[in-house]
Amino acid sequence: MGLLSQGSPLSWEETKRHADHVRRHGILQFLHIYHAVKDRHKDVLKWGDEVEYMLVSFDHENKKVQLVLSGEEVLETLQEKGERTNPNHPTLWRPEYGSYMIEGTPGQPYGGTMSEFNTVEDNMRKRRKEATSLLEENQAVCTITSFPRLGCPGFTLPEYKPNPVEGGASKSLFFPDEAINKHPRFSTLTRNIRHRRGEKVVINVPIFKDKNTPSPFIEAFPEDDEAARASKPDHIYMDAMGFGMGNCCLQVTFQACSISEARYLYDQLATICPIVMALSAASPFYRGYVSDIDCRWGVISASVDDRTREERGLEPLKNNNYRISKSRYDSIDSYLSECGEKYNDINLTIDKEIYEQLLQEGIDHLLAQHVAHLFIRDPLTLFEEKIHLDDANESDHFENIQSTNWQTMRFKPPPPNSDIGWRVEFRPMEVQLTDFENSAYVVFVVLLNKMLLPPAYSFFPLSKVDENMKVAQKRDAVLQGMFYFRKDICKAGGNAVVDGCGKAQNSSELPPEEYTLMSIDTIINGKEGVFPGLIPILNSYLENMEVDVDTRCSILNYLKLIKKRASGELMTVAKWMREFIANHPDYKQDSVITDEMNYSLILKCNQIANELCECPELLGSSFRKVKYSGSKPDSSN
Ligand code: GLU
Ligand code: MG
Repeated sequence: MGLLSQGSPLSWEETKRHADHVRRHGILQFLHIYHAVKDRHKDVLKWGDEVEYMLVSFDHENKKVQLVLSGEEVLETLQEKGERTNPNHPTLWRPEYGSYMIEGTPGQPYGGTMSEFNTVEDNMRKRRKEATSLLEENQAVCTITSFPRLGCPGFTLPEYKPNPVEGGASKSLFFPDEAINKHPRFSTLTRNIRHRRGEKVVINVPIFKDKNTPSPFIEAFPEDDEAARASKPDHIYMDAMGFGMGNCCLQVTFQACSISEARYLYDQLATICPIVMALSAASPFYRGYVSDIDCRWGVISASVDDRTREERGLEPLKNNNYRISKSRYDSIDSYLSECGEKYNDINLTIDKEIYEQLLQEGIDHLLAQHVAHLFIRDPLTLFEEKIHLDDANESDHFENIQSTNWQTMRFKPPPPNSDIGWRVEFRPMEVQLTDFENSAYVVFVVLLNKMLLPPAYSFFPLSKVDENMKVAQKRDAVLQGMFYFRKDICKAGGNAVVDGCGKAQNSSELPPEEYTLMSIDTIINGKEGVFPGLIPILNSYLENMEVDVDTRCSILNYLKLIKKRASGELMTVAKWMREFIANHPDYKQDSVITDEMNYSLILKCNQIANELCECPELLGSSFRKVKYSGSKPDSSN
């Protein structure tokens, strides 16, 4: 989840005093990097995935499942037995926000060859096995995006009571501080976000109104003023960073050949974010209730929203510098490549001084405004020992601001003095239950990334991408939602890349026929006369690629999953979970998920993930990796 420094964390008041220092030196550090590596050209694409996991414990006798707060110990052993023993170990493990979470990545990035698509799933299986082998009996690592009873009484093992008093990190009525990772970064982030904001974070998720759900649905919090004021009728109220950052996702990072390729890919992939997020929807339940959303995005966004009332526009500006329209965790606000420039139609709040400084240093308008926009934020954590740095050889202050701007895409300059290139990170996806599905989504995105290089051209106004983000999180958006998308991302692209770049233009002057509203099925699978479909385009791209038969088989299998999720032939994880709960014998059609229902759901998820049972509604018949046996897989699969 970002930079981890060791040392003594400063309070918000102290951190705030150093905010300008961090920004000033962060920019100097960025400039050092930029000048050193702006001309670096790498010849191969490299990429890697990140999977976040939850540790759970089943109590079969009492039919209860809990989150196990042993992430730090499990991580320590994984690193000790893995990367610290063998630098070529196939997996790498990192901490995550929850004390019940860990994050796993492949040991080495994947390279540019097609055959590596065939190793992704094996590597994910290794990770699951490695982590599982360290757990106690009745425990499991789960790839679920949000734990349905997160924040309900006794949801952790050991059990802790929330401690909503001054002095705590979250002050939550529901989420005990013990469920936060013990590394001081995480509790400091939590506390400082709350202090900067001036109150607890507020998350209100619309409840799903079932037959017997009280209407209006109101929870009273008489013992807590803030909660009583902040909670909304017909919504599930949550009050802690853990409700958001305690969720899991699936990310992909790409290393581009050059800075300009990275900027182009950042933009192209940004247009895809809402589409792939809706396709990956996996988080319908919050704090023991059935909600009316399918994706975690807005929940995390609210869970780290450190903006003051002034910045949110609720009070006149007095102590703060800007009105800020979004949380630090949100969609991107500007395209970075020249081709995207004319589609930049979102009002961008920037630090003007930083912008001018970057221009003077020879940085172009688009990159300068991107960085000056990230730098309107304050640092949220600072370690006493890490205030004075060597700007030419360290980048902690730059990373401090950069890595707490959690956006749909992240543009990542190389670390100082490393041979890593310019990278972009694709961040919107929800994590899936199985290694097969997670591999399918990762491979799909990496193929799109290859396909979306020039002359492919998927630009449309960024404000429309934002509208798509809103639609994408709604219940069943994958089948019900309509999304803006560019009508022709291939043919017109070639010319457009040449003719359309460079000239800034107001998007309202654009011919409106460049993009139109489409269903996800149309965007992914195509529709005669409307859009050719990303998968048909990928398929024709693949036909011209050298790919061994075995790898081709795997890729086709992965694409089949995506294709069928888009058409509705297979369910998203969110939809499948909803049906599981709706059909549970204990469910009273009142939107409540009891401990026992949660237990059977997570048990089932774990069985599916470990291939102990099939789940054709979710995975089709292709859920086991089809090993090449001399013939192509059955095309009816
Ligand atoms: N867990 C967060 C999410 O679901 C991402 C944290 C990170 O940036 O690694 O989006
Ligand atoms: Mg992470």
